[in-house]
Amino acid sequence: MQGDDARGLAIEPQGTPVTGGPDEFALINRLASLLDKPAHGIGIGDDAATWSPTPGTVMVATTDMLVEGTHFRLDWTTPEDLGWKAMAVNLSDIVAMGATPRHALVSIALRPDQAGIAIEIYKGIASHSRASRTFVIGGDTVRTDGPLTINVTLLGEADQARLLRRAGARPGDVLAITGTVGGSAAGLALLNGEPTTDNQDMCRRLLNAHHRPAPRLHAGPALASIGVGCGIDISDGVASEAGHLALASNVSIVIDVDAVPLHPDAIAMFGLERARSLGLTGGEDYELLVALPPSLLDRARDAIATETTLTVIGRVVQDHQGGLVTVTSGGSPFTLGAGGYVAF
Ligand code: ADP
Ligand code: MG
Repeated sequence: MQGDDARGLAIEPQGTPVTGGPDEFALINRLASLLDKPAHGIGIGDDAATWSPTPGTVMVATTDMLVEGTHFRLDWTTPEDLGWKAMAVNLSDIVAMGATPRHALVSIALRPDQAGIAIEIYKGIASHSRASRTFVIGGDTVRTDGPLTINVTLLGEADQARLLRRAGARPGDVLAITGTVGGSAAGLALLNGEPTTDNQDMCRRLLNAHHRPAPRLHAGPALASIGVGCGIDISDGVASEAGHLALASNVSIVIDVDAVPLHPDAIAMFGLERARSLGLTGGEDYELLVALPPSLLDRARDAIATETTLTVIGRVVQDHQGGLVTVTSGGSPFTLGAGGYVAF
């Protein structure tokens, strides 16, 4: 922290050790004490971390930043859930490459009165780190007068020849999705105060889908290992993610809206039409959308059966322009809600 150090030098009386400040070190130690230590390599506590990559693998890296007021509200989420989710969004990107997550670096900017919140956030980070068998091996802790900000960098590894690439869709492939969609967006709709029935169990499950998403830690690497070559995670809604696949692969994609597996509580609470819209355009479900030859479908389902389902929701067709996603119902163009759309 160049800025703080410079300011510290200017105001400290002579003879005072020039450090980042006892508060900062105490907090880092407290945060580190919540995390499991890696069995090998250098973790938190030195100038940098080390680890031994598995021979024959390529490193896969991703990073995602969450800013208070933009990506989360502290009156809507507990700090512990926030820590869980900061890990989730990054773990999801790693498994959406077909890779296995290994290590994380976590940086946090907070106001001076937010040390307690940081500790709660790290409880969530620690539990998701444990659940995903990853280790936090470093990070940075800085003061800010601005919004609380968390940045997680996730490092994973994969077989280079077996990655789930956005550009991997081929005409003739089917488009398939793990689990269900719409649950997270339905939870967000509840937080936004959309009128609903007052079924407490349903509310709890939908809020949970929004606050504590579970990335497909097994399915991503498992699908890649059997030869599936195309995938993306659902962070922005099925329709937009399908658009990314279509564009990167230079193909068109036709989605059958009747086949999209929707979160049952989203349907029960908001009705089929709204649940469809939440699933197609809502996002943050962190399911995996993949394209694969129909001949691989049975093996793909078997490979992920211990974790989740795989449902065919569309097909990949030839298109030299690329990038067109069409949504159909019963073979006809589908219009969604009042705004309505058929293509992206
Ligand atoms: P430096 O001044 O070299 O950046 P720091 O005092 O920032 O060192 O960090 C000391 C150690 O604590 C390093 O190993 C760093 O990676 C780790 N660390 C600092 N902040 C965090 C954090 N928020 N989460 C995890 N590790 C952290
Ligand atoms: Mg530092």
